Amino acid sequence: MNDCIFCKIIKGEIPSAKMYEDERMIIIKDIEPKAARHFLMIPKRHYKLLSEMTEQDAADLAVCLKKIPQLTELLGLEGGYRLVINQGDDAGQTVFHLHVHILTGQKMDFPHL
Ligand code: AMP
Ligand code: ZN
Repeated sequence: MNDCIFCKIIKGEIPSAKMYEDERMIIIKDIEPKAARHFLMIPKRHYKLLSEMTEQDAADLAVCLKKIPQLTELLGLEGGYRLVINQGDDAGQTVFHLHVHILTGQKMDFPHL
């Protein structure tokens, strides 16, 4: 867990463009945006994969997801958005601390991230 890049971002050990923070999560700008605007919602609880989540992790994630529509103005989500979780190699997951991509600011006319 100590060498997890997202845990380091959460602790402030690595700088990030932070858009929002509360007791459960942070939302940062993705460093390599794959849409006109691309954020990452990162729960503060560290778990690698959907498949490793406990019931408590799932309840926490549900609260985080429910918060996203409340951040419409802050994140500029008025036109709509796409949420993506990559799980494992075939999906191209590169950071093994579960996170939700928030893609917005354009028509989602592409099939992949
Ligand atoms: P995934 O491929 O689903 O694991 O997504 C990892 C995402 O984290 C990628 O879109 C990266 O561009 C992004 N990323 C990696 N390092 C950083 C960082 N230091 N700050 C912001 N985003 C990052
Ligand atoms: Zn982590």
